[in-house]
Amino acid sequence: MTIFRARVLDTPDDPFTGGMLRSDEDAGLLVVDGKIVERADFAAVRAAHPDVDVVDLRGGVLLPGLVDTHVHFPQVRVIGALGMPLLEWLEHCALPEECRLEDPAYAQEVAEEFIFGLASAGTTTSLVFGSHFAPAVDLLFSEAERIGLRVTSGLVVSDRGLPDALLTTPERAYDESLGLAERWHGTGRARYAVTPRFSFSASDELLDACAAVEKDVHDAWFTSHVNENPAEVAAVAELFAEAEHYVDTYDAHGLLGERSVLAHNVHATDVELGVLAGRGAAVAHCPTSNSSLGSGLFPLRRHVEHGVRVALGSDVGAGTGFSLLKEGLQAYFMQSLLGPEGLPLTSTHLLHLATRAGALALGLGDQVGDLGVGKEFDAVWVRPLPDDPLDVGLRHAASAEDALAKVFALGGGSDLAGVWVAGDRVKFARN
Ligand SMILES: [Zn+2]
Repeated sequence: MTIFRARVLDTPDDPFTGGMLRSDEDAGLLVVDGKIVERADFAAVRAAHPDVDVVDLRGGVLLPGLVDTHVHFPQVRVIGALGMPLLEWLEHCALPEECRLEDPAYAQEVAEEFIFGLASAGTTTSLVFGSHFAPAVDLLFSEAERIGLRVTSGLVVSDRGLPDALLTTPERAYDESLGLAERWHGTGRARYAVTPRFSFSASDELLDACAAVEKDVHDAWFTSHVNENPAEVAAVAELFAEAEHYVDTYDAHGLLGERSVLAHNVHATDVELGVLAGRGAAVAHCPTSNSSLGSGLFPLRRHVEHGVRVALGSDVGAGTGFSLLKEGLQAYFMQSLLGPEGLPLTSTHLLHLATRAGALALGLGDQVGDLGVGKEFDAVWVRPLPDDPLDVGLRHAASAEDALAKVFALGGGSDLAGVWVAGDRVKFARN
């Protein structure tokens, strides 16, 4: 039993439908067995529990653990390859690196680097694009378990359009996926996600095999890419002549539902937004990736107006790092640059997109995403060094919203003084 004392900011109520930032200047969170059981002014919680240990996190702000709904395990070493659009970047940068994960020793190193990247950015929950190689996916799950992060992931499958080393068959895809799901789905904090890379590299038979895994693994998740880049959208239209829209290539196989997260959707039609809303599927918006690859400006307003759920993804390695704070800031920039078509965002929207919206997209809204009573204590302590510009900004902020805006504008991994999952402090590999 522990009392955490901090300035707490979170967004239990959706700001896209009028919810406000919840801010407690001097809160006490009583945590028992990893779960928050009381939240009130520190003095009141302290008076009610005078003998309980206090962890003093004053100075800075305490946020819910960040949630990344789209991030690629095998791409940690290729972050920062600027200057290419999607298909060229895949061919020259991402895919050659992904081939190297066939070697388990290589994959183990990358798994450690990747999980360290998530944890050190304050990302406590993530939906991870795995590897094309089943042993590498086992190593990813093992490393996530060792460090304690909540990871949903799976075998990435493709049977055309990629280097031979990354291709599989529908039968092998089914067998290997089922094996991984049997080992990991529902084990500790791990869950399995059926993961065809994208329709560009999947035949109808492979997508059928994915649907079979989704059916045979109880409560499995589904993730893939959609509508990222105009050249990709055109290529998919050519490959699937019978599909009217890109989203249909997944929907025709029964792959979309409330446990589905599709990344990007920059070039969505209104029909597709209607389908996604109807299925209850969520979209992972990845603003630094979209900006870096020149994929386009995300139509957030149209998603919200159609009732499509949206959360944030870093899309490492096309995205430029693991920080969801940076993704939030870039999402804000993008909506500003869209002018009248954009959806103006406040710091409260950014925190919601980086925490509660992600938890809801991943079906974990009753466990994580905010720091209310009944939730697990997954938290990030933002405490910059003294006189760092963020420290100056926080000390002189005009309001809680202003302080939060400064966290998104100025905050990075080096400003995080602590990360917890279910009440346990996350110990990074290098600590
Ligand atoms: Zn991606």
